Amino acid sequence: MGRHRGSAATRRARTSAYGSRSGRAIAVAGLTALALAPPAAAQSTGGATPREGTPAPTLSPPPPGVPLRKPPQLRSWRCVKSCQDRVTAGTGSIVRIRGRALARTYEVVFMGAAGEADDVAAAPLRRKRHVVDVRVPLGAVPGSLLVAHHDGQQSLPSDALLAIAPPVALKEAGAAPTVEVQAQSRRAFFDAARPAKISYVVHGGAAARALVELVRARDGAVVTSWDAGEVAPETTQSLAWDGTVGGKLQKPGRYSFRVSAVDAAGVRAVSAQTGQTKPDPAQIHFLRHEFPVRGPHYFGEHAARFGGGRGHQGQDVFAACGTPLVAARGGVVKFKQYHSRAGHYIVIDGVRTGVDYAYMHLRDAALVDAGDRVRTGQPIGYVGDTGRASGCHLHFEMWRAPGWYDGGSPFDPLRSLMNWDKTS
Ligand SMILES: [Zn+2]
Repeated sequence: MGRHRGSAATRRARTSAYGSRSGRAIAVAGLTALALAPPAAAQSTGGATPREGTPAPTLSPPPPGVPLRKPPQLRSWRCVKSCQDRVTAGTGSIVRIRGRALARTYEVVFMGAAGEADDVAAAPLRRKRHVVDVRVPLGAVPGSLLVAHHDGQQSLPSDALLAIAPPVALKEAGAAPTVEVQAQSRRAFFDAARPAKISYVVHGGAAARALVELVRARDGAVVTSWDAGEVAPETTQSLAWDGTVGGKLQKPGRYSFRVSAVDAAGVRAVSAQTGQTKPDPAQIHFLRHEFPVRGPHYFGEHAARFGGGRGHQGQDVFAACGTPLVAARGGVVKFKQYHSRAGHYIVIDGVRTGVDYAYMHLRDAALVDAGDRVRTGQPIGYVGDTGRASGCHLHFEMWRAPGWYDGGSPFDPLRSLMNWDKTS
């Protein structure tokens, strides 16, 4: 999930609860222009405090014009190739999943135990409406499976648990080493709770010295490397990358992890190169922002655009009330307040950027408090229509340094939003 994914609880709650298109109509035109007074003049914070294990949000039908896509459904699965039996797989086994709306499967998540620390996701090898084949990734631990679309919609976790057979030593002592690498998720967001992470293992009879290189897909350049020292054979290693090299935040794009190992005899093995295997299990899509609305949505026009209404300083994104909202970029919460026009709102001072991000008309008080450190993709609340709002929507603003009503100035966030929508 990466997605780009929130906490396991959020993730499990994120399956679609949207009904048919025939919901109550919501007026869209004539949106309120927002021009806030400085925060000092705003009213005090509203009631609710965030709770742990917040239940799945109650959603209203999405407003007209929101593209509706069915969430994936996972009905059954079985191990079909290189398996110990139908429910027991090992790294490299092929699992076949059956269900509905699977044609847009972006990744299959091997969920392991509760919490997402041990989750490993893999791209499908084959996907059709009713069937998906996936290779069991390195690092997968026993647990449920789920299917995720690119837009964050997910199936419920499977009832049946996948068992993982202990790795079989394929090579005798003295055999030449080989290396296997697997990224834990297909997307990685800068400053997310989970950094980009890989698992790798050196196969062979002996310990070997391992070197991990980060290769930029655009031009094949090695942007950084890690000397892992001597690693034992058949022992899964892991490595995390925070998105920076020498303190410098790297450009968004695709990156691959390449691992080479040299054994005592000087025999060298290199993991499969980008493009040799498809989908490349060692490649991640590194992104600096996540799209803040996790559900069907569309961008408002006219008065809902930046500058569209008198004093409209942001972009409106329409979605059903109750649709989860996440931080587009991590940072520190500068303001969390209630205002007669903005409703429940929150302003986050983005980390490693001078930009402030404002989210307005939240259904309830935000899930985080002023002063809190928030991570990219962290749930911050739900789409609502508090304050002066016609229809459920997120009013989103971006402000240049030094920031929101602090000497900065707002700019049109639409291009950024559309970019994030495409990639996350
Ligand atoms: Zn607005």
